[in-house]
Amino acid sequence: MKYIFVTGGVISSLGKGLTAAALGTLLEHRGLRVVIQKFDPYLNVDPGTMNPYQHGEVYVLDDGAETDLDLGHYERFTHCRLTRMNNLTSGQIYETIIAQERRGDYLGKTVQVVPHVTDEIKKRIRLVAASQPADILITEIGGTTGDIEGLPFLEAIRQFALEVGMENVFFIHVTLVPYIHVAGELKTKPTQQSVAKLREIGIIPHALICRSERPLSREVRQKISMFCNVPVEAVIEELDVAHSIYEVPLMLQKEKLDDLLCRRLRLNRPHARMSAWRNFVRRVIQPRRCVTIAVVGKYVELRDAYKSIYESLTHAGAYHDCGVKAVNVDAEEIERDGAARKLKGMDGILVPGGFGNRGTEGKITAAAYARKFRKPYLGLCLGMQIAVIEFARHVAGLRKANSTEFDEKTPDPVISLLEEQKTVVQKGASMRLGSWPCKLVKGTRAASLYRHSMISERHRHRYEFNNAYRHHFEKLGMVFSGISPRNDLVEIVEMGPAVGGWFLGCQFHPEFQSKPNHPHPLFRGFIEAALSAKQ
Ligand code: GLN
Repeated sequence: MKYIFVTGGVISSLGKGLTAAALGTLLEHRGLRVVIQKFDPYLNVDPGTMNPYQHGEVYVLDDGAETDLDLGHYERFTHCRLTRMNNLTSGQIYETIIAQERRGDYLGKTVQVVPHVTDEIKKRIRLVAASQPADILITEIGGTTGDIEGLPFLEAIRQFALEVGMENVFFIHVTLVPYIHVAGELKTKPTQQSVAKLREIGIIPHALICRSERPLSREVRQKISMFCNVPVEAVIEELDVAHSIYEVPLMLQKEKLDDLLCRRLRLNRPHARMSAWRNFVRRVIQPRRCVTIAVVGKYVELRDAYKSIYESLTHAGAYHDCGVKAVNVDAEEIERDGAARKLKGMDGILVPGGFGNRGTEGKITAAAYARKFRKPYLGLCLGMQIAVIEFARHVAGLRKANSTEFDEKTPDPVISLLEEQKTVVQKGASMRLGSWPCKLVKGTRAASLYRHSMISERHRHRYEFNNAYRHHFEKLGMVFSGISPRNDLVEIVEMGPAVGGWFLGCQFHPEFQSKPNHPHPLFRGFIEAALSAKQ
């Protein structure tokens, strides 16, 4: 097994996760099996309860782990299937160590950052390496070199490299080379200082990935090479992508990062053939047609909160050679200004997942607008619940129907908690999380899109469709096309021809399983419907 460690310098938000994922793509195209993991130096045990404003989307894995959105990049850019083992936070390490200390496992010894915390980190690297058949393990260290909280991780990977042999390890440092407009120059000093900080700890990077808005000249590369003690061919340029994040693997290939890596790690593999990938990128960048999709949500200020959804729209668009312009529409503005003003001219309406009351009435109005004017509608998780409430109110005439999440005393709780959930108090504990099977009903839209009768999709929610209303709604034209075989829960609803057009809501999150050349069937169907709605 070979180990690649990716650290970051100068500032955060350099796209380290994306770079690690893109490198994974490139190595997979050379026939290598890749696993990727992320270390997060913060003290939260998992990002599940973190605010999406601050942290972006919570990405959910098959096993129900709630992780950092970088793991979404890893799964989209490679074939690796991740588990909760692939995202380690300082909080988890301390939780483990303190539990061991309380149990008396340390036999009265002083418990310290070195060696106890560092040992725990190294143990985790070995566990992940052993957990899957792979040739390469890429580990991204969150945060920026020089952060106090990142130090134990850097110390641990330094020790780890010694233990497994330096010939099996490749250190990559992602850094910033800023362009200073008044001077008209690229500046290398921040990179020099960041590398010096790494060297202080004892890590000498084998390659520097230089994030920059301008190309690096020969002189700049030589300067970085000399001051940072890396060969000039290991100074890799990664420009701000002009159009799409999916260009990054192609950029890294152009800079021959994969050649360098394979040479140093003595991996004798043929060159990466990227034609299918390049073709996909072409369809993303220069599509032949275009649709506009309204994403009616709450966290509209911050793009990252719906990251996987935007990516899934892009994948589905590329499949149809169609650009997808996602327009964020604030649900509260619909409450204020009405649906027509905000949604006219849209080719499709998507209501994403969410928690809490704010904006829900606006989302219900958006669903009503979609149904009435037969605009394609895709509801994800909360978006499905919204569709059910809308139907209950406007088709079934249950004027006060609601989810008990928003109105505990509603006379018609069409969305509610299951009996067994009502006693759970700890935050997060009552959620239905991770992959659950779902059986599709023959002859429905969902069944024809998936072309399977049994599927598995990822969940992250508490409330469910209330089966007491199922029979009644079915008679009124709602189609229940996906049912959980384990406990008879509703997973997918559609509108029959009498009550709506292309209109589908799912209780799960399909956006977590879409990939560049494998768009998710529901997104594929949604974009196709939007295209025909436009024509
Ligand atoms: N708030 C809803 C629930 O808990 C929906 C959650 C979601 O959209 N992820 O059931």
